[in-house]
Amino acid sequence: MICELCFHRCNLYEGQTSFCWARTCRDGKIVPLNYGKVASLALDPIEKKPLRRFHPGSKILSVGSFGCNLRCPFCQNHEISMSGDGELETAEVSPEVLADKALELRPYGNIGVAYTYNEPLIGYEYVRDCTALVRERGMVNVLVTNGTIEEAPWRELLPLIDAANIDLKGFTPEWYGRLGGDLETVKRSIVLAAERCHVEVTTLLIPNENDSEGEIRNLARWLASIDQSIPLHLSRFFSRYRMLDKPPTPVERVYRLADVARGYLSFVYTGNC
Ligand code: SF4
Repeated sequence: MICELCFHRCNLYEGQTSFCWARTCRDGKIVPLNYGKVASLALDPIEKKPLRRFHPGSKILSVGSFGCNLRCPFCQNHEISMSGDGELETAEVSPEVLADKALELRPYGNIGVAYTYNEPLIGYEYVRDCTALVRERGMVNVLVTNGTIEEAPWRELLPLIDAANIDLKGFTPEWYGRLGGDLETVKRSIVLAAERCHVEVTTLLIPNENDSEGEIRNLARWLASIDQSIPLHLSRFFSRYRMLDKPPTPVERVYRLADVARGYLSFVYTGNC
């Protein structure tokens, strides 16, 4: 059976685990393995997602599971994103329990639920079921995603999403290829999301990989062609996972690239500087 959720289009035989570790084929159907299996749950400041222009100063109940459909060697969350079923401790949290928890936390500044930490869209069914219940309770849904999803499921989910932070990990097909991703897919996800909800974009700047002025100029110019008020977060890289040999992005480099992006975009933020 073919999973049609992302461009990898895994062809899974009965019981086989997918590329993203979060899906399998059971009784001839593609099913999620991480439905309701929560690896991380925390009440975070919305700025930590990062979202800077969506309910600033509020908090959001943030939930994550395991698995990812990319293979970034610099993954900042690899403990959960590069794990499969049974490889880390999870708690069963049904959509009802999650939505009720979000409501319970409203007096503490919570505005809803953020699907984050690992790639939430590979657990599509859980996100879809939770977002409907959270919306019913009058709260918001936030996605923090790599944007690697096919068009049909993305269009179906977007009406339930209030805000998204989408990673744009660079602006060349070659770089995306090295991450196991597809630049055009992510661009399409950003365009479609910007039509339906509040969108902010994050780029992690990896020294000598995706941090040339030309690349960031092209990225910022393209974002501005959608809407120049889309906030762009340029984040500083720190050695992680399989990129332990690289030094952190020099702070001056991050500031310089932010200035380049400001030539096109109204809101450019620097992170981890
Ligand atoms: S979502 Fe996972 S299982 Fe489905 S195609 Fe993508 S990598 Fe494969």
